[in-house]
Amino acid sequence: MFICRDGTSSAESKVSHFSLFQSKTPVMNPIVEEYKQFRQFVCSICHKKFNQKANLVVHFRVHTGERPFKCLVCNKGFSTKQNMLKHHIIHELSSNQ
Ligand SMILES: [Zn+2]
Ligand SMILES: [Zn+2]
Repeated sequence: MFICRDGTSSAESKVSHFSLFQSKTPVMNPIVEEYKQFRQFVCSICHKKFNQKANLVVHFRVHTGERPFKCLVCNKGFSTKQNMLKHHIIHELSSNQ
C-alpha cells in the first residue's frame, strides 16, 4: 500500500513590505542570486535557506564575524541582540553580591 501525496505547492503571493531600517550591508553578498525567483534567501556560503532576508542577514554574521551588539558592561560583541541580552543576564546576576 502506497499513499501518494501530490506535493503541489501553491505559491502564496505575500505582500512584501519593505523595512525601512538601514542595516550595514556586509562586504560579501550573502544571497545566492539564482534563488531570488523562488523567494528564498540562501546563504551564499553554507547554503542555509531562509524565507526572510533579515534572517539571512543576521545569520550571515557568523561568516563575516560581525558582532554589532556590544555588551555595555564588558564590551564583548555579539552577532544578535538576543545573544547579547542573554549574556547580559550574567552581569545582572553577579551584581547582586
Ligand atoms: Zn551561512
Ligand atoms: Zn558583558
